[in-house]
Amino acid sequence: MAKTIRHDLLILGSGLAGLRAALEASIVTGGKIDIGLISKVQLMRSHSVAAEGGTAAILRTEEGDSLELHAWDTVKGSDFLADQDVVFRFVEAMPEEIQLLDKWGIPWSRRPDGRIAMRPFGGHSFPRAVYAADKTGFFEMQTLYDTLLKYQNFTRYDESFVTSIQVRDGQFAGVTAIEMATGEFISFEGKALIICTGGTGRMFGFTTYAHTVTGDGMALAFKAGLPLKDMEFLQFHPTGLIPSGILMTEACRGEGGYLVNNAGERFMSKYAPEKMELGPRDLVSRSEMKEIEAGRGFKGPRGLDYLHLDLRHLGSERIKDRLPLIREICMKFIGSDPCDEPIPIRPVAHYSMGGVHTDIDGACPVPGIWAAGEAACVSLHGANRLGSNSTAECLVWGKITGAAAAKHCAAQAKFVEPDGGRIAAEEQRVFGEILQKSGPENLYTIRQELRSLMDHNMGVFRTGEGIRAAQAGVRELKERYKKIGIADKGRVYNTDLLTALEMEYLLICAEAAVEGALVREESRGGHARRDFAVRDDEKFLKHTMVSKDGDGLRLYYHPVTITHWKPVERKY
Ligand SMILES: Cc1cc2nc3c(=O)[nH]c(=O)nc-3n(C[C@H](O)[C@H](O)[C@H](O)COP(=O)(O)OP(=O)(O)OC[C@H]3O[C@@H](n4cnc5c(N)ncnc54)[C@H](O)[C@@H]3O)c2cc1C
Repeated sequence: MAKTIRHDLLILGSGLAGLRAALEASIVTGGKIDIGLISKVQLMRSHSVAAEGGTAAILRTEEGDSLELHAWDTVKGSDFLADQDVVFRFVEAMPEEIQLLDKWGIPWSRRPDGRIAMRPFGGHSFPRAVYAADKTGFFEMQTLYDTLLKYQNFTRYDESFVTSIQVRDGQFAGVTAIEMATGEFISFEGKALIICTGGTGRMFGFTTYAHTVTGDGMALAFKAGLPLKDMEFLQFHPTGLIPSGILMTEACRGEGGYLVNNAGERFMSKYAPEKMELGPRDLVSRSEMKEIEAGRGFKGPRGLDYLHLDLRHLGSERIKDRLPLIREICMKFIGSDPCDEPIPIRPVAHYSMGGVHTDIDGACPVPGIWAAGEAACVSLHGANRLGSNSTAECLVWGKITGAAAAKHCAAQAKFVEPDGGRIAAEEQRVFGEILQKSGPENLYTIRQELRSLMDHNMGVFRTGEGIRAAQAGVRELKERYKKIGIADKGRVYNTDLLTALEMEYLLICAEAAVEGALVREESRGGHARRDFAVRDDEKFLKHTMVSKDGDGLRLYYHPVTITHWKPVERKY
């Protein structure tokens, strides 16, 4: 029988969004709210710790930057699919977030005059990425957690793996989880939930994401009846290291790095003559693929042909000062020093623009549930996120949802108790069914096949034929998944069992992405189709919504909010 644990507010995920939400809920209640902070990994192993290059905000209006400019860059970068009211809420909130982190003690990199330093990032028309060398996420996580420690109102449940979100009579009631160290099944009850579980990038093989980023929160929300939005929009970052896919931060180009083909040309002059290497990611990734397909790349392993990211002209002093992690990664992983040699790179799966559908306040359609950070789709990034806008989004909607959920908890006198029968059924599903599976299919082969399917058919360029192949492949894998065998029958740190649960989440997210991509017969941002090469605003200036429908899903659409700018041709 499941052990019951109660907290007013449950925060699912302790990355940047989860920590900022916990901190804001603590601040607005003067530390009075009781928070359960649940994470399947140790807190500082949350994926946000890997964020490298920077966090966007307007700090230098006196030097020519403005809220309108940041908003315009974001809307244009999104290929006009971002909700513009959301974008303005975001740019207006960000400067204070940078100052708060500063006040809380983050070691921002600084200009010689002591002011906070900022660097250029792709698609931004002003150098507005605030950074802490190339370890921005690490320092942001440390700072938020250190500050949260001032409040004694939260309990950490690290290495607790959530398996379901419980909704009763249309209201949030709790979540169920496996305590990994003991294998105990826990029913967490709460008045409110904030889903901060990050993206879904591990549905790809060649990716910058940590192995833990498997779309759990999106799939759990979908299974609980919440809609997902814009799942077909997956971002490919232009500079993934060959052959591992480790991110070579956009800050490399922000600091002045060049992208070069096998003829030694800075090929971006053909595709984005004004912005060059600092075009938005969708455009730069497509340009790289065109160069590689035209035979102007270098031969790489496993079909991973590549181009060069050249930093040598920056000089070793600057590389060591501004990009120490990049240098260290290159030396450790490919045995070469970027001060002396160019870095082999190509586009790599990096970010999920889609996620759990929320309104502008991060609220989901079920009362008592909010979502923030990469797991959510508040519609800030539309079809293509600008670099440095994601850590920023985590801060802004961590704050907004933390405050809103705290208010909800204060107003809600009673807990909605989860249905005991459903909790027992979920425990039976996890330990009675999935753990007992002894079918012939190998879980890890299925995972490998999904990744290869997505790498080949849902990459930088897509075609109807390829997407249909992915659709058929995902459906087949879903059937084979039912016949997997779980070798380890134990309960303690059973990574076979957890991988099986993650596999289900990945399949749900992949199916939502593929179905949305197939119907979207246009090219917009991260969704570039060879068979429908142009954007079609008449038919597709709308968000794709996906809801659970029996064993399958139902697609429908949601309008884009346009308050300032009508779509125009994107030129860089
Ligand atoms: C290598 C890399 C570098 C990046 N650099 C930048 C950058 O410089 N600037 C920028 O703006 N963006 C950057 N990004 C993007 C940005 O880092 C992420 O989008 C952001 O950090 C996501 O934060 P999050 O809080 O939403 O989720 P995460 O940090 O991914 O945290 C997710 C949390 O959910 C928990 N969780 C997930 N599933 C479960 C489950 N089933 N049960 C319990 N807990 C669960 C995890 O344990 C974790 O605590 C980068 C991304 C990558 C891959």
